[in-house]
Amino acid sequence: MCTLSTEADRHQAQLLDGARIAADIRNEVRADVASLHETAGVVPCLVVVRVGDDPASLVYVRNKVRTSEELGLRSEHRALPTETTTDDLLSLLATLNARDDVDGILVQLPLPAHVDEARVLESVGLLKDVDGFHPLNVGRLHQDRPALVPCTPAGIVELLLREGVAISGARACVVGRSRIVGRPLAELLLQHDATVTICHSRTRDLTFVTSQADILIAAIGRAGFIRGEHVKPGATVIDVGMNKITDETAARQLFGDDADRRIETIRQRGYTLVGDVHPAEVKAVAGRLTPVPGGVGPLTVAMLMRNTVTAAMRRRGFV
Ligand code: NDP
Repeated sequence: MCTLSTEADRHQAQLLDGARIAADIRNEVRADVASLHETAGVVPCLVVVRVGDDPASLVYVRNKVRTSEELGLRSEHRALPTETTTDDLLSLLATLNARDDVDGILVQLPLPAHVDEARVLESVGLLKDVDGFHPLNVGRLHQDRPALVPCTPAGIVELLLREGVAISGARACVVGRSRIVGRPLAELLLQHDATVTICHSRTRDLTFVTSQADILIAAIGRAGFIRGEHVKPGATVIDVGMNKITDETAARQLFGDDADRRIETIRQRGYTLVGDVHPAEVKAVAGRLTPVPGGVGPLTVAMLMRNTVTAAMRRRGFV
């Protein structure tokens, strides 16, 4: 019996190092902050508003504040109690909008259910809307006019460009149509001349659609959902998902060769992170793949820093 492995068995996608690219972007932002200070005496300031005690939000906000400080930006963390009302938030936003020393305002989502999220997001000053969620920024993006662009989609496009992935003319498929990731990402890919398909929970024959894509992006929120059969051989696969798994059997099934290390992580921390892509299966089919963690996540924070500096410069008419 022949025991030699075939070419297909041996294939492993190249892992796209989002963490390294994020570090490059942070270094560029650090240099821009220093030069803005030197030439105009300006130190951009980011204010992050958090309501309630969601532990994941607290980790994200601390990371944003810490990164701002590392890059020489000023930052403020406004932690408000869960019972904060829509009116309380609107009045805080009015104060922050009026403060000349504040360049970027970010309201950490999700907000508690009793808060009117849409009203809050449209009350962030347009020029300070570093998350790019204000309806006017959304509209501008869709009209291909200068806008503050949501950080995760902007980071994904930056990754594709810096890794030399050909977007123009490529078939791109975005699975997920959220306002935070899927929709703005589809728009950005269209602006870079990809032929874009957006899929969602009602898409018929998802495997047929996704397996046509040269660039496949998974932004679904379901651990390991995109399997080998969804992927065109050689495609570039971007995994946006961040899901915690605690089950060792699931980890063994998802991580293949890497399972022992992940099971160790579960034993130490109680969980390990997995994206929306089944890593072991997709690595064997895709040409390039972003890992989780260390792929899209670090780019999101780096692009938030970039947006804060852009907002500071635009508001002062420097660009
Ligand atoms: P949402 O829950 O807002 O959207 C999920 C999308 O996936 C929806 O459009 C939904 O379709 C679609 N979907 C759900 N089930 C299926 C299915 N069976 N087949 C096809 N499509 C499906 O999620 P987000 O966009 O906010 O986030 C997506 C993932 O990305 C999450 O894991 C999140 O944690 C992660 N994330 C990571 C970030 C990072 O920095 N790395 C930043 C933001 C998010 P429908 O509209 O029909 O319901």
